[in-house]
Amino acid sequence: MKTILITIVATVVGSLIAHALSARQERAFQPPPARDAAALEPCAHSVLIRASAYLVLTAWACIYILVPGTVIWALATGARYVPVYMLVVLGALIVVIPVYLLLALWLRCRHCGRRFLIQTIRRPPYGEPSRNTSAWERLIVRIAFHDRFRCMYCGQSYSVRPPALEAQ
Ligand SMILES: [Zn+2]
Repeated sequence: MKTILITIVATVVGSLIAHALSARQERAFQPPPARDAAALEPCAHSVLIRASAYLVLTAWACIYILVPGTVIWALATGARYVPVYMLVVLGALIVVIPVYLLLALWLRCRHCGRRFLIQTIRRPPYGEPSRNTSAWERLIVRIAFHDRFRCMYCGQSYSVRPPALEAQ
């Protein structure tokens, strides 16, 4: 009982701190000078940027397998033994998330200097509008499946075509 109470209090305090920090980020955000949407630039690290998007897609796939998989496993086996596929998926998740975070912390927009693979404010000025998904989620899908994307902070358009194709 005591552990549950500590968990609940820690969760509430943690979410209040997170809320206060993100509100502070939101207030401190100064929109950088807008970029012309038509001025498409080749991306210096297009392969790494696309790889980052695929890492996120892999992490999403792992989560979609793990969550229902855990419920089915617990119901079917009474959680007696852990199937190999769950260990593999969990292992993939443990590898993929830190690698993505390292790339996302390293890659920056050449014009505004912001880390465009990390969404720090609720409504970035150049995030694609949508009700149900965040600007970051739409950016990841765009980078993975399209040839170009825009920095959600300054609007600069980047091409993520591989360098060999770009030269054609
Ligand atoms: Zn930018």
